[in-house]
Amino acid sequence: MLEIRNLHARIAEDGTEIIRGLNLTVKAGEVAAIMGPNGSGKSTLSYILSGREDYEVTEGDILFNGESILELDPAERAAKGVFLAFQYPVEIPGVATMQFLKVAMNEQRKARGEDELTTPEFLKRVKAAAAELQINTDMLRRPLNVGFSGGEKKRAEILQMSLLQPSLCVLDETDSGLDIDALKIVSDGVNALRSPDRAIVVITHYQRLLDHIVPDSVHVLYKGQIIKSGPKELAHELEANGYADIIGEAA
Ligand code: ADP
Ligand code: MG
Ligand code: MG
Repeated sequence: MLEIRNLHARIAEDGTEIIRGLNLTVKAGEVAAIMGPNGSGKSTLSYILSGREDYEVTEGDILFNGESILELDPAERAAKGVFLAFQYPVEIPGVATMQFLKVAMNEQRKARGEDELTTPEFLKRVKAAAAELQINTDMLRRPLNVGFSGGEKKRAEILQMSLLQPSLCVLDETDSGLDIDALKIVSDGVNALRSPDRAIVVITHYQRLLDHIVPDSVHVLYKGQIIKSGPKELAHELEANGYADIIGEAA
C-alpha cells in the first residue's frame, strides 16, 4: 500500500537534507511502527507524506497503491485516503470541531462523487464515534483544538480518523502527553481501525504505546534512514538496550 523508495528530502528554506535514502514498505492490513531517537526525521517523514510544502523531495519516490503521490497536494492525498495525525495538532480558531468534521467528511464524499451526508446521519456517526473515544459533545462545540488538553487533541485526531476511515493512517507520537487512561482509549480507537484493507504507521519514541497497539513490524529511523527493521520484539529490544547498539551496528 505504501512504498517509499530511496527517499531524499530537504528543508525547502535552507536546503538541509533531513531524509537521506529512506526505504520502507507497508502492506495493506499491516501496522508498522517507526521508532528512533529525537531528531531522526520521524516528524519530517510524516510531513512529507502529507505533502507539506516546507520540504522538497530531491530523489526517490513515494508510492501509494502503486502510484506516485509526490505531485499531489495535501488535499488530493487526503482524498486518496491518506490521513496524518500530527504530533502537534493545528488549532483552528473560529471553526467548531463539529463543523470541521462535517466539512472534512463532505469534502471527502464530494471527491468520491458521493452525496453530502444529511445532518441526522452526520450527527449519528459523530456521536457514535465520539462515544467510543469518550469525547463529550461539549468538546465538539468548541473550536478545533483551541484550548484542548494534550489528551483531547489526540482524541480529536483519532475521531477524525475514525470518521474518515482513511486507507493509510500515519500517527506521529500519538502517545505524547497522554496519561494511562487516555492512552488506552486512543489505542482502542486505533485498534478499531485495524483492517485488512488499511495500513497504519505508528511513529513513537516509546515502546509503551506498542503494548497497546501491537505492531506487525518495527523500523528504526536514524539520521533520515531506516537502519533496522524487525518483528514486534525489536521494540522490546530497543526498550531494554536503547538505540546505541543498533546505531553502532548500522555504522
Ligand atoms: P523527530 O520527529 O524524529 O524527533 P524531526 O523530523 O522533528 O525529528 O526533525 C529532524 C531534524 O530536522 C531535526 O534536527 C530538526 O531540527 C530538523 N528540522 C525538521 N524540520 C525543520 C524545519 N522546518 N526547519 C529547521 N529544522 C528542521
Ligand atoms: Mg521530536
Ligand atoms: Mg517528531
